[in-house]
Amino acid sequence: MLIYNSLTEKKEILKKPFFRKLKLFVCGPTVYDSPHIGNLRTFMSFDIIVRYLRSRGFKVFYLQNITDVDDKIIARAEQEKTSWKNISERYEKEFIENNTLLNIGMVDRYARATDHIPAIISQVTTLIKKGYAYRIDGDGWYFDLSKFPDYGKLAHRTIAQAEDGVSRIDTSRNKKNTGDFCLWKFSSSENKKYEPSWDAPFGSGRPGWHIEDTAITESFFGIQYDIHGGGVDLKFPHHEAEIAQQESASGKKPFVKLWMHVGFLQVNGQKMSKSLGNFVTVHDILSKLSPDEFRLLILQHHYRAAFNFSDDAVSFTKTNFRQIVDFLAQLALVAEKGSGKNEDVLRAEITKFEVSFHKAMEDDFNTPEALAALHTLMNAAYNDLYSLSPRVAQKTREVCISSLKNLGFKDILPAIPEKVSELVAERELSRIHKQFTHADALRNDVRALGYEVEDTPLGPFVRKSIK
Ligand SMILES: [Zn+2]
Repeated sequence: MLIYNSLTEKKEILKKPFFRKLKLFVCGPTVYDSPHIGNLRTFMSFDIIVRYLRSRGFKVFYLQNITDVDDKIIARAEQEKTSWKNISERYEKEFIENNTLLNIGMVDRYARATDHIPAIISQVTTLIKKGYAYRIDGDGWYFDLSKFPDYGKLAHRTIAQAEDGVSRIDTSRNKKNTGDFCLWKFSSSENKKYEPSWDAPFGSGRPGWHIEDTAITESFFGIQYDIHGGGVDLKFPHHEAEIAQQESASGKKPFVKLWMHVGFLQVNGQKMSKSLGNFVTVHDILSKLSPDEFRLLILQHHYRAAFNFSDDAVSFTKTNFRQIVDFLAQLALVAEKGSGKNEDVLRAEITKFEVSFHKAMEDDFNTPEALAALHTLMNAAYNDLYSLSPRVAQKTREVCISSLKNLGFKDILPAIPEKVSELVAERELSRIHKQFTHADALRNDVRALGYEVEDTPLGPFVRKSIK
């Protein structure tokens, strides 16, 4: 199993650890709004990655945080004149519901920042004691980047460039270095109503963004672990800050062995932003694509590659998904009614598919290549599909279904409603008795129910119409 490591900028071999699970942490959502396609690409990609690892015998402990304390949450609470907790609970609920809908189900443990305040306080205390943090009166505690020369090793940047990554609550004119980031923000007097606050020996307030993750991972995994994932936009400064915090607090390197980053996402060739009004939310996606079609769209791109969400990509995916579903349904028809006798046809192609599929997935989860292997097998089978032996058709079908299920598809075998099947059977009888007008009328009835009939050498093949 080869995985590209952003830290070393090389593909590295992932070994199965003995007697323990692989420890994987992926940055979760900030629950202040509905998830957008950028978040979903990351969560779906890691769902696929973990599914595949588990299907190959890797034992994985997959941990994800939920940022439920953040300036964006406070701002939204103030806007709606409600509590920060109402906002975070509403969007956490939506996040969990969407995951269920999209079959994103590999996470073992979701960890809320606010459930880990004692761990956060203890990490900040250590950083203060060891001299890595300094206090700005009336503001908070900051990490001093001049004390951590390794800063920038993940994003391959220098401290001098650090200022372009300043975000969220990290702005203060009194900082020692422009890139210094906030570990703990003191409670303000004017905004008290909407912002959360916890008592701490170094002053009451709330945690900075980066410290949540390292406190949570230290609680579950200890001071070092195997894999950290997230969107590439989080590499700097968020992930750099995590490295700085944890390696300074523990004195141990590396904090994380392997860093995985999901590529940039664009919408119609543009960066997605609120100001451009091109934000694609989970609602927008699900109005265009089924959960399985969205999964296929994600799989069509390598997880590290840039991804452009466009109408063309949507319609290409819909066609591609339909081809796969039709193929499986047609194989089922051949398995049931076929009369081919040659058991050797397609044997070599099936083996080739299985080898190529795993070779692609084991090469840093090359999902486009894995899908290409499936299409190669489909093309070979279509050479003479209706002459395949039932046993070969069944075997081909099983191999494809098992590979697709390992990638997380759940609705690739749609059932035909009973009413439709009855109409199709009646139409078939009419055709046999050469009552073609009646047969055509029945075909229209089937169409009115949203299905199509295609006549094949093995009888009628039924599928859902394209909307
Ligand atoms: Zn994070």
